[in-house]
Amino acid sequence: MEFTDKALVLKVGRFRESDIWLRLFFAGRGMVTAFAFGGSRSTRRFCGCLDQLVLGTFRVGSNRRGTYKVLEEGTLLHAFPGLRSDPRKLGLVAHCLKFVEAVQLGSQGARPVFDLLLETLDTLERSEVGAELLPLLFKTKLTFEQGLKPDLTLCVRCGRPAWDHEGLDHSPAERDQPSQGLGFSVERGGLVCTSCGDLHLDMEAEPLSVGAVRTLEWIGASRPADWPRLSLEPEMRRQLGRIVDRFVAFHLGLRWEHGMYRKI
Ligand SMILES: [Zn+2]
Repeated sequence: MEFTDKALVLKVGRFRESDIWLRLFFAGRGMVTAFAFGGSRSTRRFCGCLDQLVLGTFRVGSNRRGTYKVLEEGTLLHAFPGLRSDPRKLGLVAHCLKFVEAVQLGSQGARPVFDLLLETLDTLERSEVGAELLPLLFKTKLTFEQGLKPDLTLCVRCGRPAWDHEGLDHSPAERDQPSQGLGFSVERGGLVCTSCGDLHLDMEAEPLSVGAVRTLEWIGASRPADWPRLSLEPEMRRQLGRIVDRFVAFHLGLRWEHGMYRKI
């Protein structure tokens, strides 16, 4: 079946003399591997498109028996020159692309992640986002976009409001301490309130400060264009990083190991 759709090129490889294979992330279909026969010679059909980190519109068909996809034509839309010229930003992009690829998106749920990825690349190309923050933000937001957004209002055990939104002291010192007794249950995907168990006896719940809960809420409502404004104290970043990594491992079955995401 033939289709034409917008895609970002995630990976490119060469085989035989002039043929190329590509891993593409299509806005409406998710991940597709396709072959561009004669791709390294044909500048007319694929003008500047057969390169990693290229956004283009691609026409895709298949071989006669329908066993693999064939790239028929491509039109370059954007090649992100501002990212290509900056090795630090390229490193961050590579992390995001690895995560997107590991999530193995099919046609369902591809569109919001595609939009999120493009907005992330766009933001990163035009401004600075801390290297220690971007993977955390992207991973969190993508996981939420997959329908895995935790409920940050009610306790997952007793169903009552997990924290008093009005009554707490929000002074910075108070805010960043996990002493409020809030917890986050990775398995149940939500908050555990003060009266629902001693966190020290409960290995399931990670301690979480009110400030970290608010930050998670902020990330959930944010778009990548908002991210350059965010700065986090190291302790808060560690707390969130630990929770998000465990959340991703439990719900998406992915763990970051030795520079790549592994299925667990
Ligand atoms: Zn409770």
